Amino acid sequence: MEWNKLEEKWQKRWADAKVFEADPDTGKPKYYLTVAYPYPNAPQHIGHGRTYTLTDVHARYRRMQGYNVLFPMAWHFTGTPVMAMVDRLKEKDPELLNTFLNIYNVPEASLPDLETPIGMARYFADEIKAGMKRMGFSIDWRREFTTIDPIYSKFIEWQFAKLRQKGYIIQGSHPVGWCPGCGNPVGQHDTVGDKEPEIEEFTVIKFTSGDVVYPAATLRPETVFGVTNMWLNPDVLYVEAKVDDETWVVSADAANKLLFLGHDVGILSEFLGSKLIGGNLTNPMTKTEIPILPATFVDPKNATGVVMSVPAHAPFDYVAMEQLKKGPKKDFEKYGLKQSDMAKLKPISLIELPGWGESPAVDIVEKMGIVDQEDPKLAKATKEVYSQEFHNGRLRGNTGQYASLTVEMAKDAVKEDMTADGRATTMYELIEPVQCRCGSDVIVKIFENQWFIDYGDPSWKELAHENLDAMEIIPKELRQEYDHVIDWLNRKACARNVGMGTPLPWAPDWIIESLSDSVIYMAYYTVIKGINMLKPDPEKLTEEFWDYIYLGNGGVETVSEATGIPVESLQEIRAEFEYFYPLDARHSGRDLIPNHLTFMVFNHDAIFPRENWPRGIVVNGSVLMEGQKMSKSMNNIIPLATAIDRFGADPLRLALMITAEPLKDADFSPDLAKSMADNLERFNSRAMEIVARGVGEDHDLTESDLWMLSRLQAYVREANEAMTEMKVRKTIHAALYNLNQDLDWYMKRVEPQKERTERKTAIQHVLRTVVEIQVRLLTPFTPHLCEEIWEAMGNEGFAAFSSWPVPDEALVRADAEELETVIRDSLEDVKKIIQVTGIFPSRVHFYTAAGWKWKVYLKALELQESGRLEIGTLIQESFKDEELRARRTEVPKFARILVEDVKRSPADMVSLRRSMEVVNESTLLQDASGFFANEFGCEVSISSESDPWIEDPEKRAGRAKPYRPAIYVA
Ligand SMILES: [Zn+2]
Repeated sequence: MEWNKLEEKWQKRWADAKVFEADPDTGKPKYYLTVAYPYPNAPQHIGHGRTYTLTDVHARYRRMQGYNVLFPMAWHFTGTPVMAMVDRLKEKDPELLNTFLNIYNVPEASLPDLETPIGMARYFADEIKAGMKRMGFSIDWRREFTTIDPIYSKFIEWQFAKLRQKGYIIQGSHPVGWCPGCGNPVGQHDTVGDKEPEIEEFTVIKFTSGDVVYPAATLRPETVFGVTNMWLNPDVLYVEAKVDDETWVVSADAANKLLFLGHDVGILSEFLGSKLIGGNLTNPMTKTEIPILPATFVDPKNATGVVMSVPAHAPFDYVAMEQLKKGPKKDFEKYGLKQSDMAKLKPISLIELPGWGESPAVDIVEKMGIVDQEDPKLAKATKEVYSQEFHNGRLRGNTGQYASLTVEMAKDAVKEDMTADGRATTMYELIEPVQCRCGSDVIVKIFENQWFIDYGDPSWKELAHENLDAMEIIPKELRQEYDHVIDWLNRKACARNVGMGTPLPWAPDWIIESLSDSVIYMAYYTVIKGINMLKPDPEKLTEEFWDYIYLGNGGVETVSEATGIPVESLQEIRAEFEYFYPLDARHSGRDLIPNHLTFMVFNHDAIFPRENWPRGIVVNGSVLMEGQKMSKSMNNIIPLATAIDRFGADPLRLALMITAEPLKDADFSPDLAKSMADNLERFNSRAMEIVARGVGEDHDLTESDLWMLSRLQAYVREANEAMTEMKVRKTIHAALYNLNQDLDWYMKRVEPQKERTERKTAIQHVLRTVVEIQVRLLTPFTPHLCEEIWEAMGNEGFAAFSSWPVPDEALVRADAEELETVIRDSLEDVKKIIQVTGIFPSRVHFYTAAGWKWKVYLKALELQESGRLEIGTLIQESFKDEELRARRTEVPKFARILVEDVKRSPADMVSLRRSMEVVNESTLLQDASGFFANEFGCEVSISSESDPWIEDPEKRAGRAKPYRPAIYVA
């Protein structure tokens, strides 16, 4: 199939008919959804395809449900991602050049255009837009904008004016993630691997040797009671330095960081850690003496580079201690330490943890078999012990006034007491190391006079929780994660000194950064089309203007006078906003929960009234390439444009949607995309063949027809249930794979009948119904192919605007489905016999159960339903019937066979079969005899075991049971 040609055809038809341009329509309910606008700093690749395709699938699904759907798109020029890429390009970074020229096929002649931020952003915005069109995304392009447009800037100024009026903008000192290389605060979008720099306040406990302080940074200050020794890394550079008015020993890296944290730091001397090992320190809490010992796991870049050792509760410490004690003597003797010093080292337990031994760290290390401090399992062991102790641990008697406190309480109490009297202080540090895109390590800086958005404001947090509680969160398992982020968020630096963007209105030397100017722009799409028609001087778009169109504040005449914009235009723009808002669904990658998505909630709640708060968020995981993370260094990135050329947009869309549910990572591979293309070609040729045969008629349907139509409803129901949670994988499986399997079966079943006049039109009716529903179910996923089949069916209008199928209860026929199992089971039984005996059959006989057996069977079902089924009762009840009483020996024999069978049957099957009463199995099997004959390649005969002229040479007929004919293969 020539996918690209087919796709172009439909893309052109959609564009010509402007079908995805959404305007207010009071006769229709609206559905408004957006997806993160891209930073145009590189072409899109397959990894981006997933989030955007899922959004398009969602848009198309809602459109088919009858909504007036708005799905717009714009470009995020502001912020560091574009700038950083331009800088690397200007420096001729060889990896980047290779990526641009050889992976993304950027023409060499275009490179000079990309050396300015605007040049690069425009170039890639065009490229990405072309890709989105080729993917068939149903976007209303009339609302496109960039975040450096002057009108957008006026909108962002208004956003910040509103935040400031509410008291949510503050200026002050606060720790921020900071890149010393770029001289800028950094957020998730500025870092390698898009890692959010998460800052934590560590307690720094001051161990001493005379007047010299060894500051050990820890997140577990309560464990100061269990310290057995101090760890320093012997191979790392340490310094003795004047820190404010004390003398500290810290790693050289730490001394540098202390400067950024606002301390006065004067280096007195530098030396390797090995120089200090073997010395003694005083524990400021217990006043005990502890030795300084060597450990290679100590990272000089982490906090102070001075680590207190608590082997009873910290797996790293226990393993390092055991390694030192059991290793070669020279490892400690070279520092002047003796065997007797080593023998004294024993874990000191201070936390009681129910279900664990004396020292949880010892337990887990032994259980996991860890013997080396470089073992990666240690991180997992540490996490487990910390979490268990935090939630379930209590302090033991050796902790003085803290004894019997929970760990959770003791942690804060010890920290507070020790910092109050100067035995400890605090220090901000990243929980995990993070690297800036420029290559420098991110550190924590106390930022003076910085502008912050105060997400720490408790009353604001309350609004955010209130909004979240009313929101639809997909996948729903993630609700807690949002709650956690709302609680955890604090001040967020919102401006920087460089880059493209909007200046802070009251402090224009600051530029608003990109995770702050991209949180309410969903509202901007709804008005920009109307504003553009006015061709206004951006300066006219004052606070009054935005107040009116977004909040309805100020009389429209007054606003019209102040802005010079006609009253009707103002009213129209406001009406469009009011029609489309609130936002129904925001789509994004899961990694944006800790910042962008939660910021969106906060900012809306601050600025807009409750009725315009966002209503839903949908996130998805990322895309792997053949099981691996996609990265330039792995050389496994496929640009979207290349993938569309190679596989076609529809197969690509299907491949991106079918491999995973929203939360999981999708695993893409070229083979997968190819197999999707094959699947779709098969779907297409069968559909076209059925369509070519015409429409058929809806009468004289047999059991097998009713079965197919009933199964169809089951898949429609499954697809509907799955789509309410955007479980697209499940939807595709139901609509394509599972439905196809049943369709295969049905077509085989009716193959021998389809040319028979009395069956022809009914079969054609069923086939056509299945195809039509299948096309509608798949339209959101593979819209181009589905339009093609839809048109061939002779339908008016686009498949994109056909109605989304809902199950037709009238066609749900449990009885037909139950009867079809008789055919299926009979087929399987005969096949097994043929396989086991190795016979080439010349004839297959089916014998159906005699009438008296049905009587006993139905009796058994009745007793089972009332919970009274026992052999004795069944026989007794049966003998109340005269005909059965005449079969004195046969009935009890048959009853015995039945009882276990019926007892094992599911309750719904029992009640269904009971309601179906006596089934005419002869007609049923007769109807399928042509099918059986084809399957077995021989003649098939059907008779009742009670027929007087029965041919039954092997005496098999007597084994017949209701729903289970007896079989003889000759
Ligand atoms: Zn940097």
